[in-house]
Amino acid sequence: MDKHVVVTGGAQGIGKAICQAFLEEGDWVSPWDIDNEALLELEEEWHAWRDRILPVSCDVSSYEAVHKAKNFLTQKWSKVDVLVNNAGVFIHKPLLELTEEEWDWVLGVNLKSIFLLAQALLPLMPHGASILNIASTRALMSEANTEAYSASKGGVLALTHALAISLGPRKIRVNAISPGWIEVSSWKKKRERQEPFLRPIDHLQHPAQRVGKPEDIASLCVFLASEKAGFITGAQVVVDGGMTRKMIYAE
Ligand code: NAD
Repeated sequence: MDKHVVVTGGAQGIGKAICQAFLEEGDWVSPWDIDNEALLELEEEWHAWRDRILPVSCDVSSYEAVHKAKNFLTQKWSKVDVLVNNAGVFIHKPLLELTEEEWDWVLGVNLKSIFLLAQALLPLMPHGASILNIASTRALMSEANTEAYSASKGGVLALTHALAISLGPRKIRVNAISPGWIEVSSWKKKRERQEPFLRPIDHLQHPAQRVGKPEDIASLCVFLASEKAGFITGAQVVVDGGMTRKMIYAE
């Protein structure tokens, strides 16, 4: 209750579910997103929570944009108790076709943004604050043609333990969550929203017998940001229905 929570990429998908979970706890939430249409929809949809929402338009991969957003935030908020670095982009492209610009875009949004946000918001973070970084099971395993994304998420895990060590003396905990397959189509902005289309095999191939939901990640964020998780820092929690524990050698 009464935590002030910044969620990057908070206007859609997993980030939106994370915002909703903290709002349901009675906390204050500031979604930072590059998609202004999705941010506007969020404000309309969550009108009842308008006093506790501070939407911020921001490209989190840009130093200038992050500092502008921080200056805007500090006109309304005097502290940030929880920073959830969730914004992420994915690219699936053969190595020989991947451009330098695409590599920089993926690394900028998925990895550099965490450095920028942590650095910009640290002065606002009191003892007991925490940072949650959304990585991916693709930090641990790969399909072909995903070099930029996998490298960015591997970097998120390393940056998480580096920050956990550096910020420990300030009593700030830093943890990573690695989601597996999370179905987000019903959490998109209206124009892109869809009913999830999932086959039985999509669910049943998971040891947990189902594909993941954004709420699976959101509820863990609320726990990791709470006092109950006070001895957890520098950790990675894999939330993938057991897929990375499953042997897949052909019979
Ligand atoms: P999504 O595309 O539904 O939502 C991402 C949000 O980030 C969007 O609102 C988008 O506008 C915003 N965003 C993109 N670039 C931005 C930028 N430069 N600045 C600010 N905001 C930006 O994605 P999602 O599936 O909800 O994924 C959320 C996070 O979870 C990502 O980090 C992703 O890599 C990770 N993840 C997702 C899955 C999955 O199956 N959905 C699996 C593993 C990890």
